[in-house]
Amino acid sequence: MSNDKDLRNFLFFLNEIKPLTSEDSLIGVLATSSKWEDVARSINNSRENDVFVQSIAKAHLYVHVPFCENSCAFCYCARRVLKQPLDIDAYITSLKNQMKFFSPVLKGMDTSTLCFGGGTPSILDESQLDTVLDALDKNFPVRERKILFEANPSSLSQAKLDVLVKRGLFRLSIGVQSLDEKIIKQVARFQTKKQVLWCVRSALKAGVPHVNADLIAGLPYQTVQGIKKDLKMLLDEGVNIVHVYPYCGKNLKALCAPSEEVLDFIKRRDAIIKTAIAILQKAGFKRKGLGSYALDSEGEEYQEELYTRMEAAVVGFGPLVMGQFPGSIFYRTRGLDSMSDFSGVDACPEDKTYVMSHFAAMAMITEGLKSQGFLKRFGMGVLDHCQEGLEYLKKQGLIACSKSVWKFTGPWEFERVREYVVLSRVLFKPDFLRRLRKRFISQYDPRCDYSKRQSWLEAYANNWLTTLYYRVGA
Ligand code: SF4
Repeated sequence: MSNDKDLRNFLFFLNEIKPLTSEDSLIGVLATSSKWEDVARSINNSRENDVFVQSIAKAHLYVHVPFCENSCAFCYCARRVLKQPLDIDAYITSLKNQMKFFSPVLKGMDTSTLCFGGGTPSILDESQLDTVLDALDKNFPVRERKILFEANPSSLSQAKLDVLVKRGLFRLSIGVQSLDEKIIKQVARFQTKKQVLWCVRSALKAGVPHVNADLIAGLPYQTVQGIKKDLKMLLDEGVNIVHVYPYCGKNLKALCAPSEEVLDFIKRRDAIIKTAIAILQKAGFKRKGLGSYALDSEGEEYQEELYTRMEAAVVGFGPLVMGQFPGSIFYRTRGLDSMSDFSGVDACPEDKTYVMSHFAAMAMITEGLKSQGFLKRFGMGVLDHCQEGLEYLKKQGLIACSKSVWKFTGPWEFERVREYVVLSRVLFKPDFLRRLRKRFISQYDPRCDYSKRQSWLEAYANNWLTTLYYRVGA
């Protein structure tokens, strides 16, 4: 990648073919069909033989609950509407099987952090929650758990909350979206303001240390005044973490080919986001990730660490979830079609250099990439690892270095997503990029007008990061 022009073209090529989301991660698209036995063998091998992998002492557990009571119009999570309650029991049986499989693999690791996401984890009743938590305790014993749990206000109850609090609820994430019921109905969601406030108050009353409200900016009929009102109420109630996600609309494809109407929508959405951020910052909240603001850092750090810093392994249970042992393997489970059998898995070996690049990119976006810290963690200087990439980014004016700390220039907000996409590529070693290129080359036709490819457009639009990328890149 020594030729600047080649590098630019290559980056453009990658983005053009399939802009990769931070959630997918670069390595995700390289994964190929694999078997659980191979995944386990690989992890065990690296835990036995690789000093870097041995230094990863924590494994965060993630349990996906893919069922929902209804299908919200704005949602692109891996989920399906629950047809019959029995489906949940069959699903739990499969989860237990998957846990058994991982039990010996994680032996000796700290597995105290447990995150429930969905779908709708609060759709599980008390006894189902207990069953899942018992299975986790049996397979991954810990002295104390820190549970991060996503709840839909319409399905959380006092009895469920009691179970969670008893088992170590550390953070409750409430799917508020908006407190305006007229807006909520517009996006095919069914919850009342009363239910939302009940969730916040009950969690705080029960002593849950971190109570998070998820909001969506740009929903139909939503106004700047509206989000001001919502935030005031939520902050007055004591919410201490807020996520502000941009609404992408029902007809997402339209966002890729902006019309007057779409541009108006984007303008309104951005004004709402800006207002929300200003209110949160004024109230002492600090940005902790993309769209995420927290009053005190601990609750949010878990989430950040879980997905970005690669300081711990992540082990996902359920369909369409990922797992990652930094420096060893990355895997993604398949299938929402067969809810009770999600044994299919795509996996990709992952080496330490990938971890180093990813770490460097995330550090620059968040607290700054410190040369000393990098050396301490990886036993190699950051310049020895990715000098070429850093210099390239510096030349583009995207990053700056002061007192051995590399940092993104300017404020890091939604609008910087495009830079991040670029950033996370140039730091990778050429051989990794070559493998990636090989994988994509079969799909790439330079004569093709990709804007006419609906499936790609949908893929772009299905992700809020890339929707923004499109906007900024236009
Ligand atoms: S309840 Fe949550 S996961 Fe389910 S469709 Fe609505 S937003 Fe998506």
